[in-house]
Amino acid sequence: MIAQPEALRIVRRQIFDWGTTSVPLSRALGRILSEDIRADRPQPPFDRVTMDGICIDYRSYANGQRYFPRARLQAAGDVPEPLADPTNCIEIMTGAALPPGVSTVIRYEDLEATEAGFHLPEQGVLDKKNIHWAGSDLADCEQVIIPAGRRVGVAEIGMLATFGYDAVKVSRLPRVAIISTGNELVAVSEKQPLPHQIRRSNVHQLASLLQQNGIEAERHHLPDEPQQMTVAIRELLKKQDVLIFSGGVSKGKLDHLPGVLAELDVEKLFHGVAQRPGKPLWVGRTDRCMVFGLPGNPVSSLACSKIYVSTFIARNLSLESSESQSLALGEDHTFRPDLHLALSVRLAPDPDGGEVKAYPVSHQGSGDATSMLRTDGFLLLPRGQKLFPAGGRFPYLPLNQLF
Ligand code: AMP
Ligand code: MG
Repeated sequence: MIAQPEALRIVRRQIFDWGTTSVPLSRALGRILSEDIRADRPQPPFDRVTMDGICIDYRSYANGQRYFPRARLQAAGDVPEPLADPTNCIEIMTGAALPPGVSTVIRYEDLEATEAGFHLPEQGVLDKKNIHWAGSDLADCEQVIIPAGRRVGVAEIGMLATFGYDAVKVSRLPRVAIISTGNELVAVSEKQPLPHQIRRSNVHQLASLLQQNGIEAERHHLPDEPQQMTVAIRELLKKQDVLIFSGGVSKGKLDHLPGVLAELDVEKLFHGVAQRPGKPLWVGRTDRCMVFGLPGNPVSSLACSKIYVSTFIARNLSLESSESQSLALGEDHTFRPDLHLALSVRLAPDPDGGEVKAYPVSHQGSGDATSMLRTDGFLLLPRGQKLFPAGGRFPYLPLNQLF
């Protein structure tokens, strides 16, 4: 059995080449960029009017002129024609390009309109107002504005669209199969499982975790029967980039998975980690496929996915390392075993200060899948401390996203 930090180090070192692909902008959300994004024009690209009203040559106002006849109206999208007579004004709309010959914009709220023009207030009109100047947000088009390795979020979609990326290069997502093992497991569609049977929930739970990041995993099931397991896994190893097994890696007489994987020449990286939940975790690889053997208990398989599978996939997608989240414990917690602990917690504001803190969720052990409904995520407590006082900060992994 190895320690959790060592297990994580080993997982981080497993690098595969999944390549890159191009996706249309409409499918880019959540993907990891594999090209640097640059602007093709300054932002804004022209002197953009930010208020509805009129624009004038300020020198006329400074010279004492207070009534400005309307020369014409210019809307957003109109070609900005110059103001020919500096004693006139142009009625102008938000989003329009500032016409040559004018220098300031005055809002309708500050004007009195007549049939043919506008009266300006005696005082208070200033030059160079209500204009979003060309290049004031972004002047340098050579500069990388979104680096490769960044996950595409809502703001990135906005910028990709702004700069004409109707398609963008991203890391190719891995082909993943999730495989439950166990003779006690029946399909979700089974209306009346026998009393000693349970529906196989892990596959769907884990698949949905991957789905949060756009990975559509195949779902399979295998009985605890080495021959059948060998045949099926041999095929899966050829086709998939990642295999995630649930169950069959503990010390039971029917936990055949480690033996079958050894038979198929899958190199074992480690089996057993000093952690709770998830002690029986098995991890190995071939030259082209990474293999996770997660313990079958639903809380264990989720915690191991969050800690290891997530780290592995994020790294192989070249996701830039983001600041990991940390949260303070909301109440004292005692944990005596000499193990790392992934503590199920729910988040709530501290009753005094209002800071959001992590409160331990009581459950009946790692088989208590219903406890996950009360859980927001896992707080990772280090080995060897035993008493964890309220207020201590620890890394936090939210349940509802892979990374
Ligand atoms: P195992 O790791 O195979 O010894 O399984 C540990 C426990 O997890 C057993 O009680 C299994 O029935 C349960 N289990 C295994 N796989 C699944 C699954 N896909 N869905 C729900 N429970 C499971
Ligand atoms: Mg089993």
